[in-house]
Amino acid sequence: MYKKIFGFAVISIIGFAACHNVFNKDKSTVADALVTDHINKNSVDSSIMVAPAPPQEPKDSNLKYVYLTFDDGPQLGTLNCYDVCKKAGVKATFFLVGEHAENKWGKSILDTMRKDMRHFLFANHSYTHANNRYESFYKHYQTAFEDFIKTQDSLQFQVAIARFPGNPAWVMDSKFRSSKLTKKLAKMMDSVGYNVMGWDVEWRFNKKSEPVQTAEQMAKEVEAAFASKSSFVKNHVVLLTHDRLFREPNYRDSLTKMITILQSKKYVFETADQYPILKKADKNLLAVRK
Ligand SMILES: [Zn+2]
Repeated sequence: MYKKIFGFAVISIIGFAACHNVFNKDKSTVADALVTDHINKNSVDSSIMVAPAPPQEPKDSNLKYVYLTFDDGPQLGTLNCYDVCKKAGVKATFFLVGEHAENKWGKSILDTMRKDMRHFLFANHSYTHANNRYESFYKHYQTAFEDFIKTQDSLQFQVAIARFPGNPAWVMDSKFRSSKLTKKLAKMMDSVGYNVMGWDVEWRFNKKSEPVQTAEQMAKEVEAAFASKSSFVKNHVVLLTHDRLFREPNYRDSLTKMITILQSKKYVFETADQYPILKKADKNLLAVRK
């Protein structure tokens, strides 16, 4: 029930049941019911684009992988993060907020970054960021789902990877973890082939949006997550931070410093589309990123 157009799949809402079967063989029927509900309420808006992540490179089990993820961009600090990662030669993922890219300034930041995306990935962090009212956002899960789809339509992500605002839910091919509050939304995202990525360690911020931990402390936390095998997937640590923490030169330098320490440990930096337990990709989608 879905058609492929040169490396990108346009999947009709009607086709979601088929999609569900392809990507989620053994998942609960609740998700089907939710999607059916969505179809009924949205018969006019009858299509969205969903691109599952490309297949991952085989991972070397002797290596340790770090997924550097920056949330809430485009915002002040985004280009600093981009420059630091580019100079250090490390890969990173930017989870974008749709409404931050609405104005000319936000658009121009993304345009600058698009000029060199070899090491970077954009992913979905909702349109409104729940307006920072998380409980209400997740309770109204239909609206929340549409918020993510609006961002997908607006920014045309080439992989179906999202992060929930203010919430560490995980929705992967073989592993699912969510609180009661986010479960219904998590299942809806799962039903349309989306992955949701939580995080293992966070570079936290204070009230002034400055980093709480030093570069050295943060690197130690990453090291500890590997050592204690506490990450969602062993030997793969997802580090969450926010672009705005690094808007000032001294904090931008902290980011450089932490990356340098992690590089000295021989960790491999990867983008979120290389995480090992994502939903399987449709090979025809690969051309998009090549
Ligand atoms: Zn956020």
